[in-house]
Amino acid sequence: MISKAGDVVRYLHKEDEYTRYMGNGAESDFINDDDIRKRLKANREPKPHNVRPIIEKSLAIETLQPDETAALLNVKEKELWKEIFEAAGSIKKKVYDNRIVTFAPLYCSNLCVNNCLYCAFRSENNLEKRRRLSLDEVKKETEVLAKLGHKRLIVVYGEHPLSDVNYIADTIRTVYGVKVKTGRGFGEIRRVNVNAAPMSVEDLKILKEVGIGTFQTFQETYHHETYKKVHPEGTTKSDYQWRLYCMHRAMEAGVDDVGIGALFGLYDWKFEVMGLLYHARELEEHFGVGPHTISFPRLEFAANTPFIQETRYKVSDEDFKKLVAVIRLSVPYTGMILTAREPADTRREVLPLGVTQTDASTRIGIGAYSDRYDRQEAERQQFLLGDTRSLDEVIRELVEMGHIVSFCTAGYRCGRTGRCIMDMLKCGKEGHLCKLNAILTFKEWLDDFAGDETREIGEEILKKEIEEVKTQQPSAHPELMKFYRRVENGERDLYF
Ligand code: SAM
Ligand code: SF4
Repeated sequence: MISKAGDVVRYLHKEDEYTRYMGNGAESDFINDDDIRKRLKANREPKPHNVRPIIEKSLAIETLQPDETAALLNVKEKELWKEIFEAAGSIKKKVYDNRIVTFAPLYCSNLCVNNCLYCAFRSENNLEKRRRLSLDEVKKETEVLAKLGHKRLIVVYGEHPLSDVNYIADTIRTVYGVKVKTGRGFGEIRRVNVNAAPMSVEDLKILKEVGIGTFQTFQETYHHETYKKVHPEGTTKSDYQWRLYCMHRAMEAGVDDVGIGALFGLYDWKFEVMGLLYHARELEEHFGVGPHTISFPRLEFAANTPFIQETRYKVSDEDFKKLVAVIRLSVPYTGMILTAREPADTRREVLPLGVTQTDASTRIGIGAYSDRYDRQEAERQQFLLGDTRSLDEVIRELVEMGHIVSFCTAGYRCGRTGRCIMDMLKCGKEGHLCKLNAILTFKEWLDDFAGDETREIGEEILKKEIEEVKTQQPSAHPELMKFYRRVENGERDLYF
């Protein structure tokens, strides 16, 4: 019987689409708050000689056990943290080499029926100017991003009947349809990832058909009680389990690149890292593949949103570095996303701790890429950004740090997704192809979009990468060079 608002939400959410994954007669989900607390307590004083074998296990690209992650989270010795930070960098290098992927978010709508206490899009925020982009506006926004050379977008939406799956699918088709002429080639978006509210299997199948890359939804907080507090009862987001099992439904719908995340600052950061680990392990256990990416946004200032000042759980810069490194060690194969919420100097420090993706030239106002942009507008967006540097500036810095920026989108276009890509990454096989594709796509970007200074240092790193292929994959070198010449001569979108 439906007797209160929470029941209506559960009814609307097709309860059987998550209870079927739950044990204990659907009484409990896979996040056991008491168990997490107990493990954190039991491992509160790990000895260095117990921690080092855990680091070794991560370096062998094995997902950690909860007790192992709990031990890492509680390390006290500075020296040992140094070893953890170094291991985080080595794991990233082992699985992804020196590649880094860039993308831009495209906010399509800030209409929202929810009332999440931390977000400026929440329904009770009367100061927020509400807007949903028309498809023509989506096209204009995409054209701006494609002209900068972006090849990957993440489209973002509030939760609202006017931004349901049909609107989402229409916007994605519009993005894929954009092609802009550049000096020598053309700009286009080749992978659209989605950040949206949890959906039913039926709706997720629609996104699969449109050809999305990763489907991303953050649990925000894994702590049940806090979740309840920050997502008021009766709102659709108040249903913790509908959200928690969203990635199970995505897998069922055939969307097997899924992105999980926690919003750090709502509850104890150590608890949230444990939650992410349990989530990854649960997906591995059920589907043989864990998350394609993990995100770890920190709570940022949002206009007219007093909760942000009130939370007791703000994460310091020092703890932020620790949590990023422990996520890297806990789920060694996964992609890790650092966003422009963080200011440039934090990004520089955190990037070497295992990050694989980052956004650039980011704007999160609705229509902000093609509109005039000023500070006042900026303060009315979902939250305040820490880094608004251009794609060219960010890429220049990444190259200076020794990275090659990959615009490769071959993986999902060749069916290398989900378990297939994860298995290949773990054994280093995908890495070989990725290296070749990174060279080709970065060359394409440098020729079409880079400023003079970036092109100059970009060409240097390309030379180094090509030399590495020559020594490490000699049989692939001649074929690579054939493709490379074709890109030099103006051919575009070549990949292995
Ligand atoms: N409305 C959908 C949802 O809630 O899942 C789509 C995503 S929402 C626009 C994108 C993400 O922004 C949220 O999942 C949340 O983690 C993050 N977010 C919300 N408020 C934030 C804040 N004040 N600072 C940093 N991130 C925030
Ligand atoms: Fe809406 Fe998402 Fe913001 Fe919550 S986090 S208010 S669901 S846009």
